[in-house]
Amino acid sequence: MPSTTTHPRTKHIFVTGGVVSSLGKGLTCASIGMLLEHRGLRVRLQKFDPYINVDPGTMSPYQHGEVYVLDDGAETDLDLGHYERFTNAPLSRDCNYTTGKIYLSVIEKERAGDYLGKTVQVIPHVTDEIKAAIRKLATDDVDVVITEIGGTVGDIEGLPFLEAIRQFALDVGKQNCLYIHLTLIPYLKAAGEAKSKPTQHSVEQLRRIGIQPDILICRTEREMPRDMAEKIAMFCNVETRSVIEERDKTVSIYEVPLSLSENKLDELIVEKLGLRTAPLDISDWRAMLQKVLHPAQEVNIAVVGKYIKYQDAYKSVYEALDHAGIALSSRVVVRRVESEEIERDGAERVLGGVDGILVPGGFGYRGVAGKVEAIRFARERQIPFFGICLGLQCAVIEFARNVLGLEDANTTEIDRNCRHPVVCLLDEQFAITQMGGTMRLGLYPTALLPGSLASVAYGSDFVQERHRHRYEFNNAYRAQFEAAGMVFSGTSPDGPLVEVIELRDHPWFLAVQCHPEFRSKPTKSHPLFRGFVKASLERREVRKRSEATRPRAAG
Ligand code: GLN
Repeated sequence: MPSTTTHPRTKHIFVTGGVVSSLGKGLTCASIGMLLEHRGLRVRLQKFDPYINVDPGTMSPYQHGEVYVLDDGAETDLDLGHYERFTNAPLSRDCNYTTGKIYLSVIEKERAGDYLGKTVQVIPHVTDEIKAAIRKLATDDVDVVITEIGGTVGDIEGLPFLEAIRQFALDVGKQNCLYIHLTLIPYLKAAGEAKSKPTQHSVEQLRRIGIQPDILICRTEREMPRDMAEKIAMFCNVETRSVIEERDKTVSIYEVPLSLSENKLDELIVEKLGLRTAPLDISDWRAMLQKVLHPAQEVNIAVVGKYIKYQDAYKSVYEALDHAGIALSSRVVVRRVESEEIERDGAERVLGGVDGILVPGGFGYRGVAGKVEAIRFARERQIPFFGICLGLQCAVIEFARNVLGLEDANTTEIDRNCRHPVVCLLDEQFAITQMGGTMRLGLYPTALLPGSLASVAYGSDFVQERHRHRYEFNNAYRAQFEAAGMVFSGTSPDGPLVEVIELRDHPWFLAVQCHPEFRSKPTKSHPLFRGFVKASLERREVRKRSEATRPRAAG
């Protein structure tokens, strides 16, 4: 039986969502974490996802958006990206549980005979497992654990999680727990007014299973009138001051914590949990936002991928570009390019006028030809290029085919029998038959070549970055590549794995096997993204100057 005690000082905030999905619960949790940290509290964040996959690692980006990778190699929900970007809370595989992961553990214990002959049931065995996952984060050095329950109240698969958080207040005392429910107040144009009924129904569902929310956060398009807050308060059994408006932000998600704080959310939370804190100091965040809201210049970056139409597939890449822009007081305008468009219409047509080209990670053959074409365009036209994971592998293929003349060069992920497997599986990956959690995952070290673009950008010759891939550069071709101008500027310190490549005769051409986008924050942009955006800004300047001095055609 897991113990039911928790450290007396650790408080718990549970965040549920109602009315519709995609309300931005992750962002709201991240914002709460950010505000509490800026009051000097030590927070931890965690998300429960009610689906049955053990983790999102095996899910398509169309289903799930980006898979967010942590230092310890956990493949997690993209909301954990918000947690990391907004707070300094350390994240580990204990910060994301799915129904599948919970059940897997319960079933493994049952097979091991740990339940001593009992009938294994949702209550108490599954709910105990969930509560143990919450308690794991409530260590002595933590003031507040924020637990986000994925999905929407009313979903069948979310019920065990809601039951567990209901029981949790009985275990640790209601005074140590706070239930926050995030809902939507839709504005009906035809009626000319906002509607509170869906919120009432959603809270009713929660109360029926024994959870009385303490605070309601209402997503709205327009300002919420006071009488609306009063009405919601009365019907939902909360104080009027506990009905907090969260209005849609048009410029930046980084405005969310500020507006929640203006609506007194952090004040209310610390009061209700009986926490004594330092006064809120968000001057660093405000300074960062000033740069977001008033950029001095603009730069156009093309991101060439295969899930481009889907908003969340490259979430951290877009965020990291924004962060680099913030650091350079610039607005990064991203042109999202479907790589198959390049295959159809040609690189010149699709990529003309961009200041930099980024090819992010990916899997499978679709769209690779377009990415290779985009990289050729960047290399030949001296446009800054940044390749990430599959982006590096495509840059290797491009160089092999178009510089070394190895026509049938490929990655064995696409063509197992190609004549020149310039990217291939390592021996240890050959034996793997299971798909879930079997890639090279998590933090790995890289030794950088002193004086290379990468080492100058990082300001260091040794770095650690997160990985998520199976295929590697094939070292049998290394000498040939080097002789033709490719620089292998980053390798694994203890072995031959290629981690970073650059081009000698190019202003800024760099690709990495890792995923640096997972370690960028709005207040601390990633050095490689910064280097890339800076090079793109410089190219833009040069282009603008040459346009200005070019004689105009007569007539
Ligand atoms: N599909 C490639 C591999 O597995 C690249 C993966 C990625 O871009 N994350 O090696």
